[in-house]
Amino acid sequence: MNGKLSRRDFNKLLLSGVAGSALGLFGNSQSAFASTKRVVVIGGGFGGASAAKYLRKLDPSIQVTLVEPKAVYYTCPFSNWVLGGLKSMDDIAQTYAVLQSKYQVNIVADVVTEIDIAKNTVKLKSGKALAYDRLIVSPGVDFKWDFLEGYSEAVANTQMPHAWQAGSQTILLHKQLLDMKDGGRVFICPPANPFRCPPGPYERASLIAAYLKASKPLSKVIIFDAKDKFSKQGLFKKGWERLYPGMIEWRSNVMGGKITKVDATAMTVTTEFGVEKGDVINLIPAQKAGKIAFDAGLTDATGWCPINPVSFESTLHPGIHVIGDASAAGAMPKSGFAASSQGKVAAAAIVRLFQGKVPAAPSLVNTCYSLLAENYGISVAGVYRLAAEGIVEIKDAGGITPIDADDNHLSQEAMFAQGWYQNISLDTWG
Ligand SMILES: Cc1cc2nc3c(=O)[nH]c(=O)nc-3n(C[C@H](O)[C@H](O)[C@H](O)COP(=O)(O)OP(=O)(O)OC[C@H]3O[C@@H](n4cnc5c(N)ncnc54)[C@H](O)[C@@H]3O)c2cc1C
Repeated sequence: MNGKLSRRDFNKLLLSGVAGSALGLFGNSQSAFASTKRVVVIGGGFGGASAAKYLRKLDPSIQVTLVEPKAVYYTCPFSNWVLGGLKSMDDIAQTYAVLQSKYQVNIVADVVTEIDIAKNTVKLKSGKALAYDRLIVSPGVDFKWDFLEGYSEAVANTQMPHAWQAGSQTILLHKQLLDMKDGGRVFICPPANPFRCPPGPYERASLIAAYLKASKPLSKVIIFDAKDKFSKQGLFKKGWERLYPGMIEWRSNVMGGKITKVDATAMTVTTEFGVEKGDVINLIPAQKAGKIAFDAGLTDATGWCPINPVSFESTLHPGIHVIGDASAAGAMPKSGFAASSQGKVAAAAIVRLFQGKVPAAPSLVNTCYSLLAENYGISVAGVYRLAAEGIVEIKDAGGITPIDADDNHLSQEAMFAQGWYQNISLDTWG
């Protein structure tokens, strides 16, 4: 599965000008022609909020209900900036007021506890149920709490925050950094691939180092990595040497980065090379698709949700589209920008399916900025297309900050990062 189309299906899809001949690829052909057009969206993050808004923009006759328990959604993008003292939690807060008032998305503050696939309904924690003709599932990631000896959800909520979902976890990690003595050691422990936001741990190391350099200059950041290489590695390492010499140490998986157990009381991590004591330990656990996707049988053995890359419709349960981090979207990284792109693709596909038409093959894009210091930004952009093997990156269509970029370029990238955030926030919730 893994979101792959067979070559036969792929050719059929691209070559067919006749809706009926290709609709079989999109499973729920009955609902494609249904007279009602009700879409329920689970999750109001980058994927779900974008899908809800664009469904209403593309076809105002579709009734869209967005189920999201949080009245305020704190974005993970820029949450590292909060840790570095460059932004406040208010700066990363988003609400659903405009989706409701301007786009007439029906916002339901609740949690979906069950998807009844046979009845096309979702059940809510409050006891209510919502019927749908098509369902969009965008629950983000869940954590593998048992992935490491000594680690648990309780440990994450007290001593070793992950801060990989923004909100109370971000506040806890920030407080620990503020309370730490000068000369302390901050451990950042990123998981193996795939996980949400591949460059995120390294941006975090940079911005924590920026804070420490200014306020606690004897302190150190050590990255215990479950990988042997990481996103934008050359650019990050060059920046660290320039901005924070001797302050950030990266240990690859084979060179002492692999953690085999933690002790939350002693505040230690054990690696193959020995036991190390930290003052602040930011342990980012291994990840899988959000719980509701798991419970509904939308995941495969990988822990992620296989999808048809044309429409993001589940290959396991027709009529249900899975977008964002929870989906297995081939070469696309798990990012807010990718989730938002996928939300729009799913929205456009659903509009066409309701019209009895074949969804158009999409172009997909991802742009990702990382900040190393207030005036030092780097970025990577990718463009993706559909191929028989799924979503693949188009070689040389995107780009990355040049390794020899000058200060002017790097400070412009930092400025563009701010513009990026404003644009995507407005595009998603505004
Ligand atoms: C530190 C950090 C920095 C990042 N920086 C960037 C960046 O600079 N650029 C970028 O593009 N990406 C960045 N990301 C990645 C980005 O945050 C995610 O990829 C993005 O949030 C994924 O969107 P999503 O809609 O799949 O999930 P989410 O944004 O997590 O949204 C899921 C929503 O679903 C809700 N939900 C879950 N289950 C249910 C249920 N059963 N019922 C109802 N609601 C439910 C949750 O409450 C949540 O609000 C960063 C991530 C981290 C951790």
